[in-house]
Amino acid sequence: MKKPSRSIPLWSILLLQLVMLCHGQTASLVIGEDLPSPLPIADRKIAFLFDDGPLPGNTATILDALKKTGMKATFSVVGKNVQASPELARRIVAEGHELANQTWSHPDLSKLSPEQILSELQKAEEVIHATTGVHARFFRPPDGQLSPENAELIKSAGYLILMPTFDSGDWRCPPAGMVRKAILDGVTPGAMILAHDSFPKSVAEMPGILEELSKRGFESLTVTDLLLQAVAQN
Ligand SMILES: [Zn+2]
Repeated sequence: MKKPSRSIPLWSILLLQLVMLCHGQTASLVIGEDLPSPLPIADRKIAFLFDDGPLPGNTATILDALKKTGMKATFSVVGKNVQASPELARRIVAEGHELANQTWSHPDLSKLSPEQILSELQKAEEVIHATTGVHARFFRPPDGQLSPENAELIKSAGYLILMPTFDSGDWRCPPAGMVRKAILDGVTPGAMILAHDSFPKSVAEMPGILEELSKRGFESLTVTDLLLQAVAQN
């Protein structure tokens, strides 16, 4: 889709999208792509996105580190992982973090029919809601891959599509310290940072990364709260 025109204030677009979602209507923005990147935020507010969980061990390590630093994040969960670790999914919500729907089984969406994609979405929605009581308002495409046709399909199902604006590169499994360096060197206010629950080496570095970010005055929020900050400031 076209980028929102600069003459329309950012806050009005965002607010409209959030209100439409609350009323179960179709949203049209791809968060992270259709908005300025990073979001125009004056202070050191960011949003961490954690993909592919919840997973035993790793997700608890991340949650402990977030709690210790007083930060929040958005966890893009896979339905079958929620089914396998329901207590972790409940802990994510209980500690004030946000859930996004990342399908039931993390498939390659380009190989699925529209019906199969909607079924992946629905199955994940059902287990997320049954487990946590929450309806996810964001959809996170597995591996960030989404054709324009499938993006339209998912928007018509009532989700905002969630894309990061900053890639930590943890999925490349780089040598120790590289994820930390990438994040600490590259982070800017308003960034939405992609990381994963699923790479134990990077997860082990996350407590130190969050602590250093906190020392530097950065605070991670849920994506919704980061968007609301952008609304409030623009
Ligand atoms: Zn993934």
